[in-house]
Amino acid sequence: MTNAVMPTYARLPVTFAKGEGAFLWDTAGKQYLDALSGISVCNVGHARREVADAICAQAHELLHTSNLYQIEHQQALAEKLCALSGFDNVFFGNSGAEANEAAIKIARLYGHNKGVAVPTIIVMSNAFHGRTMATVTATGNPKAQAGFAPLVEGFVRVEYGDADAVAAMASNSNIVAVLVEPVQGEGGIRIPAADYLPRLRAICDQHDWLLMVDEIQAGMARTGTWFAFQHSKIQPDVMTLAKALGNGVPIGACLAAGKAVNVFGPGNHGSTFGGNPLACRAARAVIEVMEHDNLTARAAELGEYFLSQFREKLTGVTGVRDIRGKGLMIGVELERDCGELVKQALERGMLINVTAGNVIRLLPPLIITDAQADQIITMVSELVQAFLHPAAGERPS
Ligand SMILES: *Cc1c(COP(=O)(O)O)cnc(C)c1O
Repeated sequence: MTNAVMPTYARLPVTFAKGEGAFLWDTAGKQYLDALSGISVCNVGHARREVADAICAQAHELLHTSNLYQIEHQQALAEKLCALSGFDNVFFGNSGAEANEAAIKIARLYGHNKGVAVPTIIVMSNAFHGRTMATVTATGNPKAQAGFAPLVEGFVRVEYGDADAVAAMASNSNIVAVLVEPVQGEGGIRIPAADYLPRLRAICDQHDWLLMVDEIQAGMARTGTWFAFQHSKIQPDVMTLAKALGNGVPIGACLAAGKAVNVFGPGNHGSTFGGNPLACRAARAVIEVMEHDNLTARAAELGEYFLSQFREKLTGVTGVRDIRGKGLMIGVELERDCGELVKQALERGMLINVTAGNVIRLLPPLIITDAQADQIITMVSELVQAFLHPAAGERPS
């Protein structure tokens, strides 16, 4: 019989019934340690009481009015996000792709306002920006694009991490913006050189382009600062957020600073659900928890610990190509594809992910304990050893 849900995901054969902190339990009661957080969504852990309470309270008060009216929690959340990030105003949507759509529309309108005929955005190899037509065009993955032609006009692609390649685009007078992930997530936890964003900032300033950072995966304390761009001393013009902003309640945000602030006016963009009282109150609670638990510092500290431990256990192991990370955005790259490790970890009660074929991606909740971190490090190291050298170790069941 045809499954009533469209097969757009290759799903693992497990159904979770409950979560608490870094733990999940499936419908048979088996416990799992979550080292993925729903792909960097549940950064403050599952069923966090303060967030659940905020959602319940708001559900009893008011779920939705409309952006035709003032919305107190939206206003307060926008002010808080601006205070944390140095941006000046915010548009709210419901997902990452929508946040990036807003950024793309800001860039195009910004271009048209200054007379650019075909506003064009520079995007990166291996980028991931979402699945809508414009964002899948911006995404640097031919597999995600296959079959969906005609793609959207107005994008050119350069190699991620190569600021010179961006500078070389200056001869194209249609360029209006650069869209970049400060750390690439889906692309394989790729971390550019420390001077990459500062150089992009300088190039954008020189040519009057907008610097737009996609922090949908790397933002919200994940890398050890509120936003990953804050590891550099720069201010982008546009930033997009989603994923962990609502800890699982759907919400996306597009923030603007400087030249990008007054681009949108009434009628230029909108969303029925965007910024509704429920999502915004949940996001405010998420930020309060992150502040209360000092999770930026915790992510930074634990990230260092993960890296040092993995380096100790896996450096020099034949078949391990690289160990890298920024805060709790951690990648262990092997020399060959290792997707089967996800299932092996699941059988042993742990959720991990493999992206870009051969990169083990770990995005644990920022609230994990030292002991839970050790459990993840030990199990992933053992799985990698057994995968690469089955004779030497015990083969996982
Ligand atoms: C997940 C992700 C998106 C897309 O977000 P959706 O909510 O799935 O639309 C965009 N950019 C980055 C960097 C992401 O990690």
